[in-house]
Amino acid sequence: MIAVLFILGIIFMFFAPPLGIILLVLGVVFLILKIVKKTGKAAVHLATQKTCPHCRSKISSKAVVCPVCQRDI
Ligand SMILES: [Zn+2]
Repeated sequence: MIAVLFILGIIFMFFAPPLGIILLVLGVVFLILKIVKKTGKAAVHLATQKTCPHCRSKISSKAVVCPVCQRDI
């Protein structure tokens, strides 16, 4: 979707420059939002999850008993 905005923006730059600029800016905004969403999710994921040392399952960082293998952590 972002690539389409960039391509349309470049095409419109020749026919209607103001519209082309708007499409390119929208493309950049969507690209930044996508990157922020991805990195934000990764940070939250790291902060709230840990790996069980016994079964290697992803579990809550606050868990004291693994819900998968039922062993103490
Ligand atoms: Zn486990």
